[in-house]
Amino acid sequence: MKEVKRFPAPSGELGWFLTANNKDHFFANPAAIEKDYDYIVVGAGFAGINAASRLAENRPGAAIAVFDAVPVGMGDSGRNAGFMIDVPHVTVGDPKVDQDHHKWRLRLNSVVINRMRKIKEDHNLQFDWRESGKYLAAREQRCLPALDNLANFLEGIGGESRMLDREETAASLGTDYYIKSLYTPGTILINPAEVVRGIAKSLPSNVQIFEKTAVLEVVEGLSPCVRLANGKTVRAKKIILTVSAFINHFGIKESGRLFGINSFGALTRELNEEELAHFKGIEPWGCTAAHPAGTTVRFTSTNRIFVRNDLSFSTHQCSSPDRVHRARKKLRRAFESRFPKLKHVNFEYVHGGMIPLTANTESLFGSVGQNVFAGTVGDGLGITRSSMLGLYLADLVCDVDSEELRYLASHTSPSWCPPEPFLTVGATAKLMYEESTAGGEI
Ligand SMILES: Cc1cc2nc3c(=O)[nH]c(=O)nc-3n(C[C@H](O)[C@H](O)[C@H](O)COP(=O)(O)OP(=O)(O)OC[C@H]3O[C@@H](n4cnc5c(N)ncnc54)[C@H](O)[C@@H]3O)c2cc1C
Repeated sequence: MKEVKRFPAPSGELGWFLTANNKDHFFANPAAIEKDYDYIVVGAGFAGINAASRLAENRPGAAIAVFDAVPVGMGDSGRNAGFMIDVPHVTVGDPKVDQDHHKWRLRLNSVVINRMRKIKEDHNLQFDWRESGKYLAAREQRCLPALDNLANFLEGIGGESRMLDREETAASLGTDYYIKSLYTPGTILINPAEVVRGIAKSLPSNVQIFEKTAVLEVVEGLSPCVRLANGKTVRAKKIILTVSAFINHFGIKESGRLFGINSFGALTRELNEEELAHFKGIEPWGCTAAHPAGTTVRFTSTNRIFVRNDLSFSTHQCSSPDRVHRARKKLRRAFESRFPKLKHVNFEYVHGGMIPLTANTESLFGSVGQNVFAGTVGDGLGITRSSMLGLYLADLVCDVDSEELRYLASHTSPSWCPPEPFLTVGATAKLMYEESTAGGEI
């Protein structure tokens, strides 16, 4: 493996983190890092936190260290739109994606959602978690097949969904922007930074989480170790890398098959009573778009509006302050067209993040070196999918067998990607095409 040259960095003002009730929690002191652990997890997003949680369950007596370059909740696990989604994305109906795979994903998604719900209940965790379901909504007539495809797929497997016409959608969302929507009840809407930090806080004392502790290098072997940016070298019996698309920089043989797409989110200030009158009787909701380049919108339980859109290939796996600033315009347009009566309401926070992807949407999962294991998601459903990878990586390293683990292990071969600069050029052209065909879905 090789020395890492690129590290995660903040990007804009991260509203989810800055409004989280647990943002000031202090995890372990990096001065207390030991020389040896049983297990090391690198990356404390949903994947890493679930891996650590499951390791602690599988091996209650083991010493487990988690290292992250940034505070928990400041990585992409805290920069997303907060949809913990159970159902497949808009790829349903795509002949390249097989139905059996979707059925498995649905099953695995409920395993991890149920597990996180149980952790929340067992520890009485107070975080923004609403069992609201989600709307897949269309503005453009030509995008309606995405709704029908998902409804038909769910019907085929006995899953629940409800189609809403224009009036019903407007009555549920408080905006008449959409012509139709499909409601599915299983999605949880969360403040993702608050939830990932909350679950991290609940881990038992044999798990120590070290924030702002970047890993420079992982050395595989009989007794593998990590070299930290603070100069320490730490050994473990087994190491799990849950660093999302940053895995490209660790020098594994799959490097180059994982990539990221930047996207951007904005959170308004809290709406006042007069503004909330437009949402009278309406519960907090979340709505994804019927087109892959469309805008995601939420009316949050903290009385704010969240919007996410704008896609650009993440050649350097970060977005500059200028890029975040440019995203503001498209986010604003999406917000104002859906809520013309709230045009005067400002965005309090705008941030950028990276959606980790692979060309064939398969994840990386499994061994990447002697006693070194890794998991990175391959599509936009990253909260549930990364949590699932973390959970089963912990089972894999502890030899805990299950049907689910065997399925995951047999469906993990991210496909080849062209080298740079062809990758950036090709992906940028594809994203520009997608955005140009999205019309009012953005
Ligand atoms: C704007 C936006 C909206 C999105 N919306 C949704 C959504 O609504 N629902 C959904 O399911 N998904 C969504 N996603 C995708 C989702 O956020 C990701 O798929 C998910 O966060 C992946 O989780 P992870 O734990 O694998 O990786 P991350 O959350 O990226 O965690 C990896 C961690 O590794 C750390 N790390 C990396 N390199 C090093 C190093 N060298 N040393 C130490 N630490 C390191 C990082 O700091 C990071 O904290 C969205 C993404 C974006 C950007």
